Amino acid sequence: MASHTPVTDTDTDLDAAAVVGRLRATFATRRTASPAWRRAQLEALRTLLTDHSDELVAALAADLGKGPEEAYRTEIGFTLNEIGHTLDRLDDWLAPRPAELPERLLPATAQVVREPLGVVLVIAPWNYPLQLALAPLVGALAAGNCAVVKPSELAPATSAAMARLLSRHLDAEAVAVVEGAVPETTALLAQRFDHIFYTGNGAVGRIVMAAAARHLTPVTLELGGKSPVVLDPGTDLAAAARRIVTGKFLNAGQTCVAPDYVLAIGDTARAIEPYLAEAVRDTYGADPAGAGEYGRIVNERHFDRLTALLGSGRTVVGGAHDRATRYLAPTVLADVSPDAPVMQEEIFGPILPIVPVPDLDAAIAFINERDKPLALYAFTDSAATKQRLLTETSSGALTFGLPVAHLTAPDLPFGGVGESGMGRYHGEYSLDTFSHTKAVLDKPLV
Ligand code: NAD
Repeated sequence: MASHTPVTDTDTDLDAAAVVGRLRATFATRRTASPAWRRAQLEALRTLLTDHSDELVAALAADLGKGPEEAYRTEIGFTLNEIGHTLDRLDDWLAPRPAELPERLLPATAQVVREPLGVVLVIAPWNYPLQLALAPLVGALAAGNCAVVKPSELAPATSAAMARLLSRHLDAEAVAVVEGAVPETTALLAQRFDHIFYTGNGAVGRIVMAAAARHLTPVTLELGGKSPVVLDPGTDLAAAARRIVTGKFLNAGQTCVAPDYVLAIGDTARAIEPYLAEAVRDTYGADPAGAGEYGRIVNERHFDRLTALLGSGRTVVGGAHDRATRYLAPTVLADVSPDAPVMQEEIFGPILPIVPVPDLDAAIAFINERDKPLALYAFTDSAATKQRLLTETSSGALTFGLPVAHLTAPDLPFGGVGESGMGRYHGEYSLDTFSHTKAVLDKPLV
């Protein structure tokens, strides 16, 4: 019988203290605080992404079977947009903001200044392995920090490409990529950081937060969960189906803000079925296995987890799967009970259950009985329904009419609430996350 030694949390050659110590020494020189250094790093990151996009697209194809168009748009292009948006506004964001003072303190002046935190840690997951490592890094650099980036070991080609390219293009004394899995992350988490930015699941989120507490390090936790789509009678079901399919089956459903399930009010549960089937066929053809832009499941563990969920309802479309290539067709399941296995955890794959509910009250109660979602989506023509969803539910984001879109708008904060996470980023929110907002008051002595 084969025996194997389990990997322990400390089984690594990584000298995490040396990595962090080197970055701390760089931070102490204050060079990363200068606006010129920040700009130069962001511009270098832009050059890296532009000059090496073919290599990065190939890495993303190797890790997740991502098609070239999707890989470019959702990972490289996304990060380039974030860089451009930040560079265009950085001077404005870094300018001290004058603050008003109460009369009793006058004469005096006051301002609010953003200062870098120090050395930050970014821990990224595998599903958008480039975007979710580099978009936080954009914020960390814009805020003038040194950073350790820990890519996901489950996307090894992208991890290796980032390690190679970042050390070549960025200030290597200020930015370090540490590749590895649990032992390496555990070793890093024993160090003191000035901020930890973690994207991934809530179980590891708890480990990260506990480790951070030892050093009083603030954390951002970008977690997941089940993001519902409320379908209201009277809405254009054909249009809704097309948009649900686009958001759901991107990256083969392995998207943190993917619509997890459809909460279908009244007769929309039955009525949406043919439109969803048609939208899947229109998008991916009769055989999605051959569609160049349809991804694969990241590994066999996730493939087995997902195929075990296929019996949770009546198959409307899809269901085909092949373990050898980790292909799972875009699948819609109808008549799904809230007690079904597929409704117990975030699906994180290309299975879309339709859960019927009688009315809006029941839909709102259903949402509020569960963890606060990362995103809530709704298709409705009713202003009153929109208002009720806005005021009677809580979620990281609320989007009407276009699932997943909010995350591409850099002026909107991106983050969760409750079990879906804490903190937010993108655009100026990233700068806030990775800066200390300092109060400065200056009163003359006479
Ligand atoms: P993962 O397995 O790649 O883990 C994420 C990171 O945590 C990796 O870098 C990994 O090395 C590290 N890690 C794993 N176990 C650890 C441990 N015991 N101790 C320390 N570090 C450890 O990714 P995942 O968690 O499977 O990612 C999927 C989850 O992430 C889903 O729930 C998804 O919704 C969520 N997600 C959220 C967002 C968001 O922006 N809110 C984005 C993408 C994914």
